[in-house]
Amino acid sequence: MSRAAPCVATTLDSIKRSLVGLRMPRALEVLDATVRRIEQGEIDGLAALDVILTEELTLRENRRVKTALLVARLTTIKTLSGFDFAFQPSLDRERVLALAELTFIDRAEVVHLLGPPGTGKSHLAIALAVEAVKAGRSVVFSTLADLVTSLAKAERDGSLRERIRYLCRASLLVVDEIGYLPVVPGGGNLFFQLVNARYERGAMILTSNRGFAEWGEVFGDPVVATALLDRLLHHAVVIQIEGASYRLRQHADLVPEHVRSKALIVPPPAPRRRGRPPGKAASDHTAG
Ligand code: ADP
Ligand code: MG
Repeated sequence: MSRAAPCVATTLDSIKRSLVGLRMPRALEVLDATVRRIEQGEIDGLAALDVILTEELTLRENRRVKTALLVARLTTIKTLSGFDFAFQPSLDRERVLALAELTFIDRAEVVHLLGPPGTGKSHLAIALAVEAVKAGRSVVFSTLADLVTSLAKAERDGSLRERIRYLCRASLLVVDEIGYLPVVPGGGNLFFQLVNARYERGAMILTSNRGFAEWGEVFGDPVVATALLDRLLHHAVVIQIEGASYRLRQHADLVPEHVRSKALIVPPPAPRRRGRPPGKAASDHTAG
């Protein structure tokens, strides 16, 4: 053992130099402890290699997800495991979990999460976006108000086309809070340009506390609202949450009856369909 030691030390030094050169800081960190585990007969060489590489990969993966979450502007993190489905019995858990498989992204579908305030629309939208980021998909998250502000600024700067192109590159665009604030004049038109550019090319998740019949009011323009819904309800999944506010769950007795009662969400008007290639019809499962 004592005669072999200098040789082991030389090999270890060489491995460390390689790990530094390869920029593998986590592998470098766990190397000595892992070699000790080999010496103690706890693991063999192959298992040690596996431990070291897995540690490094985990570190890189965590970093990648962290950066992608920042790029996506997902600052508040929510998870599906943190969602209490028992609190929202109207919500089909299996349907939400099926969305987490992310095939709707490959099909460039639009997921609508509808319901009164506090029913978990943003939570679910963020949780699905986080799943997409973890799976390596590019995501952009924004409230409608912020999105319209950024598009209006780009228009003023003469960079609207680039801004729309950037927003089209994300495989998933999440637009939160449609309907809470009235859209500024011209905002509906800008949002339409984006939606039209992404139509059948990129998936979206939209959350709203207002029924589709109220979109004319939300966007301050019934013509723009109809054109938006025409694109957004084709290849769409509509999930309606009809329960109570999770925010107010401990204070139900303090909340006036008219706020406690479920908000009426009017079902969508049947959108006017334009000609579609026949093959596409199979993927269309717009809920009513
Ligand atoms: P909405 O967007 O529908 O107004 P949010 O998703 O923002 O509501 O939910 C409000 C708060 O309550 C958030 O902190 C969210 O994480 C939490 N929340 C809502 N529904 C649930 C639920 N079923 N289980 C766990 N937390 C929930
Ligand atoms: Mg919300």
